[in-house]
Amino acid sequence: MLADAIEILRRGYVVALTDGACPNHTEPSLGSYLENPRRFWTGWLYSHHLPSCPSEIDLDLTRLQELGLLREIITTSTDNRHHLSGSKDVIEINGNVERCVCNGCNRVLARADAKRTNPQSPNCRTCGGLLIPSHLRGENPRMIELALKAVSNCRSLLVVDVASPHVYPYSLFCLTAKRTGSHLIGLGSVSDRLIDLEIRAKSSKQALRTILSKL
Ligand SMILES: [Zn+2]
Repeated sequence: MLADAIEILRRGYVVALTDGACPNHTEPSLGSYLENPRRFWTGWLYSHHLPSCPSEIDLDLTRLQELGLLREIITTSTDNRHHLSGSKDVIEINGNVERCVCNGCNRVLARADAKRTNPQSPNCRTCGGLLIPSHLRGENPRMIELALKAVSNCRSLLVVDVASPHVYPYSLFCLTAKRTGSHLIGLGSVSDRLIDLEIRAKSSKQALRTILSKL
């Protein structure tokens, strides 16, 4: 099984789909923002988020990218940790706590840039629309589109630390990958009839470690 998985990985265009669960990261709601955008805005701009530490899984995914064996990482994580781990081509379908998006013109601004251009007001300098921290907006249609394009074109999809490929939004990407002929490789605890190949281990972390040790 492991040898099969490594052979599939070496065929190229591998995408990873990974969960965003982060027990220490609490999210405010869009409702609380809209109640008082200006107050919330300055709170967001000048808050000091405790940076989330990349997990061992995040670091191993980065390592796979560095080895040229992994392309996009699709994640529901919003806490910026994939960027902190050094990963490239991260598709954050639920946004990122370090970015905001204009609800008028869809302009995307990093929090650091927003501090400079909008230190007091959440109104977009281009169109006057409301700048909303991207992780509060929920799913980002552009990111969903990018993720669907990646899973439609990939040859294999690594399903990492996802509770069930049948639960939305993971189901959308798993089913699309299957429909377009990709192999689904489940790591660790992922076990499902959608999965073509399972790397059995106590956890996704252990399964990734085993793969990396054999490369
Ligand atoms: Zn705008």
